Amino acid sequence: MSATALSSARRVVVKVGSALLVDRKTGLKQDWLAALVDDICALTKGGAEVMVVSSGAIALGRTILGLSGPQLKLEESQAAASVGQIALASAWSRELARHDAVSGQVLVTLGDTEERRRYLNVRATISTLFKLNAVPVINENDTVATSEIRYGDNDRLAARMATMMSADLLVLLSDIDGLYTSPPDTVENASFILHVEQITPEIEAMAGAARSELSRGGMRTKLDAGKIATAAGTAMIIASGTRLNPLAAINKGERFTYFAPSAQPVKGYKTWIAGNLEPAGRLVVDAGAAAALASGKSLLPAGVKSVSGAFTRGDTVAIVTTDSREVARGLVAYDASDAVKIAGLKTSAIAGVLGYEARGAMVHRDDLVMSRTGGRSKVETGRAGE
Ligand code: GLU
Repeated sequence: MSATALSSARRVVVKVGSALLVDRKTGLKQDWLAALVDDICALTKGGAEVMVVSSGAIALGRTILGLSGPQLKLEESQAAASVGQIALASAWSRELARHDAVSGQVLVTLGDTEERRRYLNVRATISTLFKLNAVPVINENDTVATSEIRYGDNDRLAARMATMMSADLLVLLSDIDGLYTSPPDTVENASFILHVEQITPEIEAMAGAARSELSRGGMRTKLDAGKIATAAGTAMIIASGTRLNPLAAINKGERFTYFAPSAQPVKGYKTWIAGNLEPAGRLVVDAGAAAALASGKSLLPAGVKSVSGAFTRGDTVAIVTTDSREVARGLVAYDASDAVKIAGLKTSAIAGVLGYEARGAMVHRDDLVMSRTGGRSKVETGRAGE
């Protein structure tokens, strides 16, 4: 299955990292982009719907404006994004036009996916672009994003977009060709991983930190993206983008890491809950409550040991065990101030404490998604670079 993952996918999200698209000295890597667009149009001509999540606005803007130095101030990166995004979008549009294809720019901020109403609105727009045979070209709206309220990396943004659009496949093109047992640039005998059945804590421990000056993400954000994607039934590939025609290379059998989608994917409304990037709070639950959740029950206040975060009713919270393992996510039925008061109480005691007749569950099972746990991974025995 993984060998034909790209050629058989009907809806694909391709995420392009900044370091692939932009050279900090010379600007946009025109030839590379042209070759990638050839690959994309080969997929669309074969009947697939393709959307692109393109990084590179800030890097390109910095080059155009001549802003050097290791770190930009927030206002400078916002200005760089403003200049870079217009150049980036026109490059995509120009290259797609060579194939008589039309592109549609979609710039999103965190709230556009975290708020349900706005999420549905973005989804409707992208669906319409697909119906009109336009290629959506997506990026974070870095010109207005602040340091606190942003995705920050396009790996997770791309995963959120892929699950929002029920894509079959998310391809992360990167300056590394996949996941290794340890970061291959620092650990000599790192082995390449071809297939990840499930992203377990063991797999997560293999990710190193971000290494490129240009991109915000690293292997860690790629695995976060993988968790979001695979839970919703979207397979993910991490593949090298450092060659020309990287998608054609995948189809020709160049190696990549394949992350299998869940066999029981989360569906519809619950996809939105599961992919929420910043839970507003945490509920620590006892073992009995964790077992009840696993058997499909709601979370009752009696099973909640402690509450943290400044959430309001309807916000997403992470449900964790006493050893900090996340077991589920859900929409909480109480404001944090009330949740604190009723944590540990029997349902019959709630009205007496709050002074009003409230709903029983802290998180109702209809608003709750279990996290994927357990599983194994297959590891190729070859050494890095072989
Ligand atoms: N949105 C950023 C940009 O276009 C890139 C974020 C990332 O590197 O993942 O510059």
